[in-house]
This record gives sequence, C-alpha cells and structure tokens, in this order.
Amino acid sequence: MIVVEDVHKHFGGFHAVDGATLTIETGSITGLVGPNGAGKTTLFNVIAGVLEPTSGRVIMDGEDITGLPPHELFARGLLRTFQIAHEFSSMTVRENLMMVPGGQSGEALWNAWFARRRIASEERALARKADEVLEFLTIDHLSDEKAGNLSGGQKKLLELGRTMMVDAKVVFLDEVGAGVNRTLLNTIGDAIQRLNAERGYTFCMIEHDMDFIGRLCDPVIVMAEGHVLAKGTIDEIKANEQVIEAYLGT
Ligand code: ADP
Repeated sequence: MIVVEDVHKHFGGFHAVDGATLTIETGSITGLVGPNGAGKTTLFNVIAGVLEPTSGRVIMDGEDITGLPPHELFARGLLRTFQIAHEFSSMTVRENLMMVPGGQSGEALWNAWFARRRIASEERALARKADEVLEFLTIDHLSDEKAGNLSGGQKKLLELGRTMMVDAKVVFLDEVGAGVNRTLLNTIGDAIQRLNAERGYTFCMIEHDMDFIGRLCDPVIVMAEGHVLAKGTIDEIKANEQVIEAYLGT
C-alpha cells in the first residue's frame, strides 16, 4: 500500500501540488484523473522519486520512502514507465528489454574477462525472460524489430514489458492510452488487467480516456488544483457535483 500524506510541491511561488493526501491500495488499478494542470504528473513524479516534495510524506508498506531516488524505489519494485529513450530506438525490442535489469556481471570489465561462461548463461536467461515477456504482451512477432519503428501503442507495450523484466510491484503509468488506436488500447488494457490479476501488480495510472478508465480502474481518484477532490468508482466520480464543476471550470 502507498500512502501519500499532505504532499506539497511548489515551483517558486506556484503550488503545483497543494496538500495531496491519498492511498493506493495494494492489488488495485487506481486511476488518477483531473483537469489539465491539476498536479497529477507532478504528484506522480514526487511518488516515483523524480521530484522531491516541498513537504509531506510518501509511505510504502509502512516505510517512509519520501525523496528516495528512482533507483532505490526501483529496487523496492516501485517504478514509473518512461518513454523509450532516443538512444535505444536503434536497438531491437528484445535488446531493449534485456537492457533493463542492472547489475549483471557483464557490467564489470574484469568479470567479462574471467567469467564469460557465467555471463553467457545470464544473457541466455535474460533473453528467455524477454521472450516470455513479449509473448505475455502478445508482441513476440516484434522481438527483432527496431524499437524506433514501433507505433505509439506498441511502444507503450514495450514500456510495460520493461516493468516485467524487473518484476515490478507498483507501476505508475502516465497516459498510456494517449494517441493509441482502439485495437492496441485493448491489448494494453488486457495486459494491465492480466498483470494485475495474474502477477499481483498494483497500478496507478493517469488517464484522460474515461472509457478506458471505466473499464480498468477501481477506484478512481480525482485531483484538482493540486489536491484530491474525490475518490470512488467511475460512476460515483461521474455523478459527483464537485468533480463536474472542476472539469467544467477549465
Ligand atoms: P497535470 O498532470 O494534472 O496536467 P502537472 O502536474 O503537469 O498537471 O502541472 C501542474 C501545474 O504545475 C501546471 O500549472 C504546470 O504548469 C506546473 N508545473 C509543472 N511542472 C513545473 C515546473 N517544473 N516548473 C514550473 N511549473 C510547473
């Protein structure tokens, strides 16, 4: 479980996150919605260790993780997906997946010299894992494709795949459905649901597509003006007067 307690994030005098308090229950697919500028992305970045909060705390399973750098959160299984970096676009999909887990022996030069056999076997294990991930995501036919040639939706699947390479526990997804065609959106939605149901992933996702949210997310948290306005099922949210006002007010 992740608890966000009265988090503030100020940029100069501007309060992008202004006293956000919320809980992300273990095993949930929690949606985070709200009008543009509500502070959703900033809050995500605070939780995922990309930004330090001005004040407030983030607790994961009872431990204070406020301000921990992304690699330490990563080691605890908490991660935020990022777009495929430009420099990885000329590598294949499988190679992109195999790049993810750090700390392989190949990283140390002397290891490469003395322990070739072990490295070879680690590489084989990684390649097997990458193939298994690609199969799970139903994009195994793309394994030798250059990442740069993928469509927007396929790239989103690859981003999800990278979280599977490290056996993430809590994954933050920022607009995974944006600009993705319906067919691929369904594939992404299925993958999220299966990772949740079969592998115990907890998701928290910023999303604008209300149908997509309605299909996947329970609960849905609404932010406006830097704080949490409401939390409930999609139907409760849609019927909430304060939420309607917040959306119409922008
Ligand atoms: P959302 O994701 O809900 O659209 P954001 O968290 O991206 O909202 O932004 C909240 C507000 O904070 C916006 O008004 C945005 O302009 C501002 N903001 C975000 N990042 C910065 C920054 N690095 N410096 C200054 N203002 C920022």
